Amino acid sequence: MLRSILPGLSLVLLVFTANLHAAPAAGTAPPEVGFAIVKTSQVAVMEALLRPGGSLVQQIDSNFSAFLIKHHQDYLLFDTGMGSQVDGQYQQGMPLWLRPFFKYDRPVQPAREQLRKAGLPPVRRIILSHSHWDHAGGVLDFPEAKVGVSALEMARIRQPSTGPGGTWASQVAAKSIQWEALTFTSGPFKGYAQSLDLYQDGTVVLVPMPGHTPGSIGLFLTVDSGKVYFFIGDVAWTQGALQASAPKFWAASLLVDQDADQTLSSVAQVRTLLQAEPGLVVVPAHDSKVQDALGYFPQWVK
Ligand SMILES: [Zn+2]
Repeated sequence: MLRSILPGLSLVLLVFTANLHAAPAAGTAPPEVGFAIVKTSQVAVMEALLRPGGSLVQQIDSNFSAFLIKHHQDYLLFDTGMGSQVDGQYQQGMPLWLRPFFKYDRPVQPAREQLRKAGLPPVRRIILSHSHWDHAGGVLDFPEAKVGVSALEMARIRQPSTGPGGTWASQVAAKSIQWEALTFTSGPFKGYAQSLDLYQDGTVVLVPMPGHTPGSIGLFLTVDSGKVYFFIGDVAWTQGALQASAPKFWAASLLVDQDADQTLSSVAQVRTLLQAEPGLVVVPAHDSKVQDALGYFPQWVK
C-alpha cells in the first residue's frame, strides 16, 4: 500500500518543491530592492540532521550565510554567519564533547571581508534572526552598525551561555556593540499578528517567529521583480524539513530549540502561508540546496 502511494506522493512533493525553487532573476548589477547571499562557511553533516527521513550515512552541506539586503541606497545584513574571530569564539563557547557534531569548514570567508573586497559601503544596520553563535558570529566585525534583535532576544544577550543553543559572551558581550531592541509596531502582515515594516513601504518586513529562541524573527523581502522571499532563520533548517513539518532531527532539536512546541507552531504557520501564497520562496538560514539555486554574492537576486 505504502509503495503504491509513494510515487504519487513524490510527484506532489516534486511539484511543490519546483514551485518553491522558481528560477530567480539574478545578476551582478545591484537591484533597487533585492538581496545577495553571503556564504561565510559551510559544513557537511549527515542528511538526517537536516531532513527528516534523510540518510544517516550520506552527507549534505549546511551553510553559514549572511543575507545582504539592498533597499535603494541602504544596505543591511540579516544575520552575519561566521566572522573573523570565530575560531577563538568557538574555543570558548563550544564544549569539547559537542565539537564533533557542530563544526564549520575553515577558512571562513567573513561577510565584512567579502563586502569590502567588492567595494560596498559599510553596512550600517544588522538584524539577527536570533543570537546563536552561527548567526551572530560576525557582529564584532561591524563596529559601526546598529544591531537589531527582537526585544525578547535581548534577555538572552544580557545573560550569555555556551553550547550550540547558546548565545556566546565572546560574540555579544562587548560594550561597544550598538544593540537595538526591535518592537513589532506595524500591525498584522501575511497572517502574522505583529510585524515591523522597516522602511514603511512593505518591502522589508520583520515578523516574530518564537520557538527556536523566544526572540527569533523572520524577514519578508519583496524584490524588484515583485517576488517575495521569506528568510526564516533556524525555524526549520531546510525546506524539506518544513514540508515534512519536522523542522529538525530530534536530537538536534533537543540541543538547539528552546521550545520545541512553539517551534512547531511557527513551522505550521509558514506552511499555512505557503498554501495561501505558493509563489513565496522560503529561505532557511542553513539550506544549501535553496541557496545554491539562488546563487551567492556578488550575484544579486532581484
Ligand atoms: Zn543556525
